[in-house]
Amino acid sequence: MDANDPKVTRKIRKYIMRIDRSLCIGAATCVALAPKAWVLDKEAKAVILDSSDQESDEALLSAAKGCPVAAITIIDNETGKQVFP
Ligand code: SF4
Repeated sequence: MDANDPKVTRKIRKYIMRIDRSLCIGAATCVALAPKAWVLDKEAKAVILDSSDQESDEALLSAAKGCPVAAITIIDNETGKQVFP
């Protein structure tokens, strides 16, 4: 999947959220913490949903923090700084 595909890299308000699918082990913690933002695809790896903007910034961040392999990166869209990990 292309790195710019909205399923793996997406701007959501003040965040740019990105997943490294090569790291994802399908633990689905992100799905449990932000179910409108994340779903497992048929490869059992997480992809970003179109409804991801319905999750709060806090939920998006906690989903990233909850990932056991830190596959989700959050970048501040205004400063360009990495918020997590
Ligand atoms: S929590 Fe991490 S490892 Fe689990 S499905 Fe989400 S991105 Fe993948």
